[in-house]
Amino acid sequence: MYVIFEGIDTTGKSTQVALFAQRNHNVLATKEPGGTPTGIKLREMLLGGALKGSFNAELFLFLADRALHYDTVVKPVRNERLVISDRGFLSGIAYACANHCEVDGEFLLQMNRLALEENYPEKMVLFLTNETLIKTRLSAKVHDAIEERGVSYLLQIQDIMRRVVKTLPIQVLEVDASHEIETIYKQIEEFLND
Ligand code: C5P
Repeated sequence: MYVIFEGIDTTGKSTQVALFAQRNHNVLATKEPGGTPTGIKLREMLLGGALKGSFNAELFLFLADRALHYDTVVKPVRNERLVISDRGFLSGIAYACANHCEVDGEFLLQMNRLALEENYPEKMVLFLTNETLIKTRLSAKVHDAIEERGVSYLLQIQDIMRRVVKTLPIQVLEVDASHEIETIYKQIEEFLND
């Protein structure tokens, strides 16, 4: 089964992905961008701002990372193992929409379907947060874009994520990121075993 953990920065996705991998031998933990050796280089370029100035160049590189990750990491094992990815196409759509408000959301969805060869994950966990919690958790490690644009930027991305998931043929669990780590873990475990 292929599952994506989604949500904006500071919601605790990576903590939960790591816990699932630690506690379950059959889990393959992976991430986007940067879930392959080439993807690590692409991630460096993307987050380091090497393509700043061309929205299309950035979009195509994110899509290249996604396609490579799907074809070489997810697809070969999704029938035998539980593949949990820290971010995926929903981040791809939401960050692109927030960074370039003139871009057509339906077009972005089509591009992402192409990168995934139309193969959506079976399930998605969407971590949701609020302004107070974001402010408490924001630290120096976050990406420049967030520092520049602030909390409202992140909340805008979360709104886009919430809107887009409603249109997808995927089972989605929304979790409250303010809850205890173990509470969230159990909630997700039940959802994945269902
Ligand atoms: O969660 P992770 O550390 O992988 O994300 C780092 C940053 O990458 C995010 O803060 C976000 O700014 C950026 N990102 C993006 N578009 C994506 C995925 C991540 O801009 N599709």
